[in-house]
Amino acid sequence: MAKKIFIDPGHGGKDPGATGNGLKEKDLTLAIARECRRVLQQEYTGHSIRMSREKDQTVSLRQRTEEANRWGAHFFLSIHINAGGGTGFESYRYVKQGSAMTMAVQKEVHAVVLARSGWKDRRKKWANFHVLRESKMPAVLTENGFIDTGADAAKLKDPAFVKKLGRAHAEGLAKALGLKKKPSSAPPVSAPKRDQLIRVRVNGKQAGAFAQPENAVDLVEKVAKPGAVIDVNMV
Ligand SMILES: [Zn+2]
Repeated sequence: MAKKIFIDPGHGGKDPGATGNGLKEKDLTLAIARECRRVLQQEYTGHSIRMSREKDQTVSLRQRTEEANRWGAHFFLSIHINAGGGTGFESYRYVKQGSAMTMAVQKEVHAVVLARSGWKDRRKKWANFHVLRESKMPAVLTENGFIDTGADAAKLKDPAFVKKLGRAHAEGLAKALGLKKKPSSAPPVSAPKRDQLIRVRVNGKQAGAFAQPENAVDLVEKVAKPGAVIDVNMV
């Protein structure tokens, strides 16, 4: 049976979410969500997707979870941008020990976003957020950089970077949910140049350099232990 994935771009309409550096959270979350959906639809099979909003419209938190519950979604993915001074990426589940699917999606999405963005790892967390608590299915919420921090905002201003975030969410979801790749969508294989390698550093020491993002993700997953400081760098 096809996996029903509910994608929730945070805020919208009258609620801009966080703002800073000329950016609005509601625009970024929608762009990430749309790209996530596009990648899943074009490159993977075995799912159907619904979004809590398709455009810049006001949708309450309750409407979002009620729609996902009514539809009988198998997974709820909520996309947000952080604010309040800080830097990097963090993700949330509802309780410390979530369901197997919750833990798997958080782990994979978290690892792929880190590998693709090069952002500081602010860790996998849990919190009593409405969309995590009131959704009846496994749910994860991501906080993609800080809109009010110059360095994070500079990246978020680049549409190609925002697309990268969308793709990372799609690939993480696909891996955790076991979605199959469409045969035609295999990327062309070409020899990587040295300057295109993704470098992973652990506690200040280089742990690996990869041409393929998924290999960097595998390493990040392996070394992501409490206390490990992981830097992922796309030079
Ligand atoms: Zn938000």
